[in-house]
Amino acid sequence: MTIRRPENYGALAQDCYQVLFSDEEIAARVQALGAEISRDYAGRNPLLVGVLKGVLLFMADLLRAITVPCEVDFIAVSSYSPEARDRGVVRLVKDLEAPVAGRHILFVEDIIDTGLTLGYLLRILRAREPASLEVCVLFDKPKRRLIDIPLRYKGFDLPDRFVVGYGLDYRERYRNLPFVGLLKAEAQGRPEA
Ligand code: 5GP
Repeated sequence: MTIRRPENYGALAQDCYQVLFSDEEIAARVQALGAEISRDYAGRNPLLVGVLKGVLLFMADLLRAITVPCEVDFIAVSSYSPEARDRGVVRLVKDLEAPVAGRHILFVEDIIDTGLTLGYLLRILRAREPASLEVCVLFDKPKRRLIDIPLRYKGFDLPDRFVVGYGLDYRERYRNLPFVGLLKAEAQGRPEA
């Protein structure tokens, strides 16, 4: 069995100069969020919706922490251009398979920064007339927010710094780190391997 300690992740872990949230801290918070969601959604068969790929680990753990019947689906987005992304305009490259109308939708997001991307996706889902639409986010950077989005469930607040791990990447790397850490500047400048 792999012990999820930073020292077991070699160079990947060494690229981080600080662990912000350990494997255990994340697991405890996700468990608490799952318990809260299970209470609130009992008898409502919610559809959990995630955006690939960053939410992968959080979704897998949150799903197992929810103890009432629920379903899960994913969307995938790509930016038209860096400028378009700055306005939160993204292209859906994979839509939901499940119909949204009349369903209780819980949007599950790994991290919210400016809120522009999430705001755009919520508008798309709202237009499909769900019975309810709420947001569960693991990491929030409140200082960076440009638009107001009510967050029904929240894991942790983050400082205005770039983090990796627990599904979050830098150029597709570091998603497999079990903790969330701050990436060293030199790791961000390094050419892709
Ligand atoms: P927003 O539209 O809220 O500014 O953008 C949110 C998206 O930016 C997230 O879904 C994530 O892909 C990316 N992002 C924002 N902050 C970070 C961060 O600290 N680390 C990583 N890996 N991605 C981030």
